[in-house]
Amino acid sequence: MKKFLTILGSLTLVLGIACLTGEIIGCFMTPIDGFLYLFGTTSHNTMAFLLDIPQYLISAGIIILAIAFIMKGKGSKEDDKLNLQLANTSKFGPWKKKRTVFQYAVLVIIFVHLILTVLGLTNIKGVCPRSLGDMAVKGELGISAVFWTSIIVLSLVWGRVLCGWLCVYAPVQETAANMLTGIGANPLKKKFVKKGLIYITTIAFWGSILFNIIKNINHIDFNINNGDSVNNIWLYVGGLITMLPLTLLFTHLFGNRFFCKYICPIGGLQSIWNKVSLLKVKIDHKKCVNCNACTKNCQMGVAIDNYIKEGDSCVRDGNCIMCGDCIDKCPKNALKFGIIERKSSSQINENEKRKTA
Ligand code: SF4
Ligand code: SF4
Repeated sequence: MKKFLTILGSLTLVLGIACLTGEIIGCFMTPIDGFLYLFGTTSHNTMAFLLDIPQYLISAGIIILAIAFIMKGKGSKEDDKLNLQLANTSKFGPWKKKRTVFQYAVLVIIFVHLILTVLGLTNIKGVCPRSLGDMAVKGELGISAVFWTSIIVLSLVWGRVLCGWLCVYAPVQETAANMLTGIGANPLKKKFVKKGLIYITTIAFWGSILFNIIKNINHIDFNINNGDSVNNIWLYVGGLITMLPLTLLFTHLFGNRFFCKYICPIGGLQSIWNKVSLLKVKIDHKKCVNCNACTKNCQMGVAIDNYIKEGDSCVRDGNCIMCGDCIDKCPKNALKFGIIERKSSSQINENEKRKTA
């Protein structure tokens, strides 16, 4: 009980601090905003009361922690097991190393941009997908629209490379998964959330943006300078730091990359045409020994073994985020990134033979 209250109190406290930054609310409000945009409004207008939530959460967290502190309980031996043993974090393969460096470099670039904005040396507006939604509701479009249109087109070539390598939430989710692996939890294990959830959030978000653009079509104001000003360092740094403990909890409950798999409307949209994007994970069937290490280690839960059984030349799955973990884990170097190959008639015949064998 004492342990439970300590964890509950800590999480409530952290959630309160996270809400103070606004960042956590912003992220998790993204799919909900989809529904709000449909009614021509945004969470800024309708959820003003959320701004009061942090003080209640922080107070509740402190009270719960105080109760846990004065309760009699077992010693700290069990609690010690909970300490995050980062030293045991799973080994990083070559692609994971490259990806981690890249992800943190993106965070640093954004941070530098923020500082330049605060110093008044640049004034590039926010490109967050919520900015695009907020602007569509008002009949305004700006750099956010250009950015997200480019990303959508880019994903036709590189698939969900944005999710694997560029997204600001990617390093937070992967760090949480590494920490959980370090203490012996298994965030790769399949959890109970239905995958179809992501299509609901995707349709709500993008459908409502399209709906508002069409609604405002006669008075759309397109100006590259439209959009939210980007100058809040606390929102960015504080948001990222306070998101980590919550991400640990959600990753433990719902598995690796829970946000990419079940919630994010950007990932959901890209996953629809990711199946036909040009760059893919290619399979060398002569080298493969069917050990299944690739499937077991895919952080997006892609059933690579199905493509191997089918005799396919590459992994054509909408959920693949081009992370390279499967390539790292294959003991026979049977996987690599490469250009997609259409299924040839001989391959289709070969697959038919496999199925009937
Ligand atoms: S299939 Fe491979 S590259 Fe794609 S998400 Fe899974 S581990 Fe990453
Ligand atoms: S890890 Fe490599 S050898 Fe094992 S099943 Fe996957 S592709 Fe085949």
